[in-house]
Amino acid sequence: MGWYEAMKDALRVADSIKDADLKLKLAAVQMECAKLSEDNAQLRQELVDLRKQAEVRQEMDYANDVYWRVAGEGKRDGPFCPKCLDGKAMLARMSNQASDRYWRCHVCDHVIEKSGRGSPRNSPSREDKGMDFFGS
Ligand SMILES: [Zn+2]
Repeated sequence: MGWYEAMKDALRVADSIKDADLKLKLAAVQMECAKLSEDNAQLRQELVDLRKQAEVRQEMDYANDVYWRVAGEGKRDGPFCPKCLDGKAMLARMSNQASDRYWRCHVCDHVIEKSGRGSPRNSPSREDKGMDFFGS
């Protein structure tokens, strides 16, 4: 039996013994329980989000002033904006045009010059689908 059903039973008992004071106090407890339940659900969601962020963080490698997502078996995806990831814990893909000397973030307009030292250990993936790791 959950707290809500238990509270309904207690209110029913208070009603049957015609104790108005007890009924009022139980109603106040019921309101507090509802608020606690709501807070608990919100905290659980925040925990899920933070775990997801920590997982993504572990997959990220910082190289050439941007983040690259290590996608297993030596594959890399990216680049991702360091300003968005470090500042807002948001994974924002940067544009990576071969004809452009810069990587550009379309979320915060951050621009980073591609280093002349070549690409990171592995070439970034060419696919450019949207990624929303932290969206709700
Ligand atoms: Zn950005």
